[in-house]
Amino acid sequence: MGDMVTIHDDARSRLRRILGEMQTQVTASKAPEPLQAALTALVTELDLGVEPVLRACPKCGAMGVHNATLCGSCWAKLTPVA
Ligand SMILES: [Zn+2]
Repeated sequence: MGDMVTIHDDARSRLRRILGEMQTQVTASKAPEPLQAALTALVTELDLGVEPVLRACPKCGAMGVHNATLCGSCWAKLTPVA
């Protein structure tokens, strides 16, 4: 990924939700252009991407990304889901 800063996935999920809500409110309230531009810059800078698709490990039930080949909890080999 090349990220300089690693944000825990749960934190990233929360940030995505919060930023999404902020963008909705800023748009709905017809906020001044500089505020909208600043929010867009913040979203771009954080570069959170899209919410990852998760699935449960068939062996231990731990949640992991859908295309993982190993469970991060029990290290079971997984077949990636397309
Ligand atoms: Zn597992």
